[in-house]
Amino acid sequence: MKQIFAQGLYTGEKWIHSPLIELNDVGEIVAITEAKTPQAVGAKSPHKAEVRPGYFLPGLVNAHSHSFQYAMVGRSEFITTTDTQNDFWTWRRAMYHLALSLSKEAIQAITTKLYSELLCHGYTEVVEFHYLHHDVDGSRYSNSTAHIEALSLAALESGIRLTIVPVYYAQGNFSKTASSDQQRFLFSSTNEYREFLTAARETLERAQVGMHILGKTPRLRLGWGIHSLRAVDAKDIQTLFADRPNSGPMHIHIAEQAKEVEDCKEALGARPVEWLLSNCELTANDCLVHATHLTESETKNLATSAAQVVLCPTTEGNLGDGFFPIESYAAEGGRWSIGSDSHINLSPWEELRWLDYQARLRTRSRNPLAIFADDGHSGTYLWQNAWANGHKATDESDQGQLGRSGRALSPGVPFDAIYMEDEHLKQTPPEMILDYLIFHAGSAAVQETYVQGRRLVKEAQHGQLQSINQQFASHLREVWKGLWPKTH
Ligand SMILES: [Zn+2]
Repeated sequence: MKQIFAQGLYTGEKWIHSPLIELNDVGEIVAITEAKTPQAVGAKSPHKAEVRPGYFLPGLVNAHSHSFQYAMVGRSEFITTTDTQNDFWTWRRAMYHLALSLSKEAIQAITTKLYSELLCHGYTEVVEFHYLHHDVDGSRYSNSTAHIEALSLAALESGIRLTIVPVYYAQGNFSKTASSDQQRFLFSSTNEYREFLTAARETLERAQVGMHILGKTPRLRLGWGIHSLRAVDAKDIQTLFADRPNSGPMHIHIAEQAKEVEDCKEALGARPVEWLLSNCELTANDCLVHATHLTESETKNLATSAAQVVLCPTTEGNLGDGFFPIESYAAEGGRWSIGSDSHINLSPWEELRWLDYQARLRTRSRNPLAIFADDGHSGTYLWQNAWANGHKATDESDQGQLGRSGRALSPGVPFDAIYMEDEHLKQTPPEMILDYLIFHAGSAAVQETYVQGRRLVKEAQHGQLQSINQQFASHLREVWKGLWPKTH
């Protein structure tokens, strides 16, 4: 039994002042009791409970990650004299060069470093939208799930919870033959994809058992994914949506780029979201990533569907994608979560700040989203959506603890939490703490991160930092040694 006494704790739904938090040996919450001092709630002595002068909050879910892209952050922020334009498609060429250079070992080292950093910023769970399936020329590995294994080991070493979404990718742009640099991503048929999912599930189960992980909530999970409407035949998209299991999430990129919308209209006779809503029955497990380019009717129909969108504001900003119509989507009750996607930024606080600021800049007003929070605070609206819907992007419905509220910190729930502290925060009224964290302090106030009661981050540093950094540095050096001339 472990006891922690803190200044405050946000369960995800309400604040508890001066809580004594009690955890059992498998990292689940036994009790959270409100009191002024540890003695007053029966802690055996004030010294037995660890004392924290700041605040605990539930960890957040990063609902969209391509971990390998972390290797190229900051390396595509320039133009060359031969560039006629510089946009998403220019960035994608550089990203393909990177994707075709990575070994299984490099993927594992880069991902481990990324996941350890995500923990330091306040995420306790990540959804990996994974499409680097095969060897660089498209030939199959003898162990077909070699990369699934690498990602699992990265999650287990860093300690983060991971949902892997192996992605079905089968063609170039809307029925065009895939290019030579897309071979690594391709499955030959939906049958091959299903067989891969079966093998991936076995790999995850082996990894989880091998690590002797205790606790009721699995550390590794599996979802289904379709890369995009452009990368999969329309009939196969309908089949996969119809056949997906009832549990587990389904993720798909959609309407990120204006060109993609125009190509979709030509190929399928409808805009991407319009087509998906009319041709596939969406459920609460479905996550539409980006959905940037929407008409008014698409916005309304998507918001009132069962699905949610996964917004990646800093990546969408970095790639010049466009603005998601958050005010009209929120006004219709639309649900959303956040992801760091290309990892140009790792802070969930910054993702939320960007989402809010782009709405302020467009509407030339302050707090345009606060109207959608019960307490009238922008921070509450932003944090609650990211938290509660983020958990649905990993699908924990089998845990029986999800409602609108996600997985509130309460007895019986694994202690997946972050501890935040700074001098300004200590003087901030509880009802303004989420505002303060999102609009000011952000990741800088994250001091500790716990997953299943295990403290993985202490004094703002991951416990395995040294060995993780060593592996990461040597692989990153090798990767860029070979790549630099091609991308610059
Ligand atoms: Zn993506």
